[in-house]
Amino acid sequence: MVVFGTRNKRLEIVDDRMYKCPKCSGGPLAHNIFQEYFHIWYIPFFPIRKKVVAKCVNCGSEIQQEQLSPVAVEQAKMSSTKRAPLQLYSGLFIVGLIIASVAIITVENGRKQKNFLSNPKPGDVYLVEDKSSGYSYFRVEKITGDSMLMNPNSAWFPDKKNASLSYGSFDKEVRQWKYWSREEFEMLRTSGRIDDVSRTGLTSGMLDEISTETGSSDEKPASSSSGEDGPAVPAAH
Ligand SMILES: [Zn+2]
Repeated sequence: MVVFGTRNKRLEIVDDRMYKCPKCSGGPLAHNIFQEYFHIWYIPFFPIRKKVVAKCVNCGSEIQQEQLSPVAVEQAKMSSTKRAPLQLYSGLFIVGLIIASVAIITVENGRKQKNFLSNPKPGDVYLVEDKSSGYSYFRVEKITGDSMLMNPNSAWFPDKKNASLSYGSFDKEVRQWKYWSREEFEMLRTSGRIDDVSRTGLTSGMLDEISTETGSSDEKPASSSSGEDGPAVPAAH
């Protein structure tokens, strides 16, 4: 439940020389000038208006604004020189700060992702949209000349919202990995079907194991045309 409403903050006390206390007939009045403000969970958002509560210096009676003559109220407000303190705008300030931060992060993130896409590196993970299968992640394992060796993630998601929460594992065998040509990659990139990029810097250790076994680091892993799940390159729209 959101707690909100209005509260009052006393700004100052101004003396009144024209009006006297109606309770003790004659006591001088001091006007307490309050600033009414709107709050949410007691965080002040913005000031609303000034309020006057008179107090008799003699008998101590408090007289609310409604019981004072409109002229006296007007005069008290006019003799008050204090403006609503900036502190009463705290809530608006906080909200503005949050909006600005989110905007900056979003812009910065978009810029970063663009940079990553224009310069792919092993360890980059792409969220790729496929018309028939939904969304899945692909990790760049190796880039050799014009081809990118992609490790498809085990999980497919029907929509982007679910996909962005997490991804499955990248523990498929090397023979299940796919080659993308630069042309195919560019096609996905320019058509906006690579939705999300993260630069993890982490690749599977499987390529290293193979190089050790075969004794050649340039050897391509056996590529398989009998991929089980997910298209090698997601089909175009
Ligand atoms: Zn009085």
